[in-house]
Order: sequence, then structure tokens, then C-alpha cells
Amino acid sequence: MYCIHCRAELSESDAFCVSCGKPQGQALPAQQPQMQQPMQGQPYAQQPYYPPINSVPTNGMAIAGMVLGILSLPMCIYLVPAVVGLILSIVGFVKSNKHPNKPGKGFAIAGLIMSIISLVIFIVVVVACSMALYSELGSIGSTYPGYYDYL
Ligand SMILES: [Zn+2]
Repeated sequence: MYCIHCRAELSESDAFCVSCGKPQGQALPAQQPQMQQPMQGQPYAQQPYYPPINSVPTNGMAIAGMVLGILSLPMCIYLVPAVVGLILSIVGFVKSNKHPNKPGKGFAIAGLIMSIISLVIFIVVVVACSMALYSELGSIGSTYPGYYDYL
């Protein structure tokens, strides 16, 4: 049988197209597409409408998540790229898991990991800064006992 969407060749047991990933709920006879789009005498099998190699779907969310994850590493103190990258990576990951081909799953995981690293760095930096600030204020108070009297 052939995919009802992209006409890639499938085995009878395939519930989803291995090429475009769409469900084969109502499998049509292979002859029907030929009647819908007559090819002027040329056998349809020699002119695939979508080449199967090029019809692997992309996962924009996963790629955007990975790009933001990479960008969030040098910009981790701004927090926003890491959070957005994390959200996009999760959405991309869920999206790829629903698809039989798992497109962009590696991108999504990479984006997820880098976003989490950025968030961890952010938390460490914030904690370290607030501790440094706290001890700085404490040392000013102890080193110059009368410091606050002049303010
Ligand atoms: Zn297909």
C-alpha cells in the first residue's frame, strides 16, 4: 500500500506513514491517486510527488529551543532566554514524541539541557551575589563601626 498523503511506499501493517508520519486510518487503493492526478501516460510510481527523503518533517520548536539554549548560556544572568529556551525545548520535545519519526528530538533534548544549565548558573550567580553583598555589608559594618552614623 501507499501513503494516502504523500504516496510513499508502506507495508500493510504501518499505521503511520514512515515518510510524512500521517496516520493511515482510511487507506485508499493505490490506483485512486492516479485517477485524481493523471500523469499523461507516465506511470505514477516513477514520478513520486514528494521524494520520501526530502519529506522528513522538521521541528521548528525543538530547533528554536536549542538555539535559545545555546544563546542562554552566555546570557544566563538575563534569565529570559533560558526560560524561553526551556519552554520551547519542552514543547518541541513533546511535539517530537507524538511523531513516529521523532523529528528534532535531539535538538529538543540539547536545548533542554543547555537551558537547565543556564538556569542553574543563574541561580548560583544570584545566590553568590546576594551572599557576597550580605557579607560585604557585614564587613563594612564591622570594619568601620561608625560608618552608618555619617549617612
Ligand atoms: Zn506519507
